[in-house]
Amino acid sequence: MKISERCYAVTGLGYSPPWCVNAGFVVGDETTLVLDTGGNWLAGATVHGYASAVRPANRLLVLNLEKHFDHIGGNGYFAERGAEILGHAACQRSAAEFREEKAEFNATIPNATRRARGEAEAFFVNTRLTNPGERRITEDTRLDLGGCEVEILLTPGHTPTNLSAWVADERVLYAGDCLISGYLANLDAGGPEEWRTWLRSLDRIAALEPRVVVAGHGAVMTGSDVPRMIRNVRATLEGAVKAGVSPTGERG
Ligand SMILES: [Zn+2]
Repeated sequence: MKISERCYAVTGLGYSPPWCVNAGFVVGDETTLVLDTGGNWLAGATVHGYASAVRPANRLLVLNLEKHFDHIGGNGYFAERGAEILGHAACQRSAAEFREEKAEFNATIPNATRRARGEAEAFFVNTRLTNPGERRITEDTRLDLGGCEVEILLTPGHTPTNLSAWVADERVLYAGDCLISGYLANLDAGGPEEWRTWLRSLDRIAALEPRVVVAGHGAVMTGSDVPRMIRNVRATLEGAVKAGVSPTGERG
């Protein structure tokens, strides 16, 4: 969906229930910046199809907003087509971690016959672990897409690798899992120290006063729904810091 002059969201890409995941892209005059690639090669193909249809002659550049597999699984589709992939310096996953993710995914299949057939392999068809390349993000970084600038902001907390992409001219923020719409935020990758870091990232995002936010998961938020979403995630984090426990996991 088109959300502003140069910004688009690709919502509802599949992952294990209850999760669907978002991606998006920003179209400059010369470069199209793709934000996340979905959970598998097929999602990568979908995002690529939309991104290249809007301005077919543009160079494609990919930015991973975090390291979790539902955000990077389509990287391979783009790499096969020569696109450079950017990500946080620590966004580097191992083959063993990817194997474990696929096994966990398969274990969530409710039907025993499908589970025994290993039908996760159908979900991950052609999906090869593809990490961001050599140009790694270690600080806030400005990208010129031609007539349009995007600021990559370090917004750690959900994981240390979380980035946001801010299109100031259109007041659009791609927040990855720093923000989440509808779902309870996933705090299970860290403990109280990481959650305090996350709260500081929320301060940073709130100060931007975005008009539209594409969160990592759930519906695109606009207007007064944006500060409400930020308040919801903040309340979850503050409650967890106070209790020392993630609302969905083990003691932090
Ligand atoms: Zn996510």
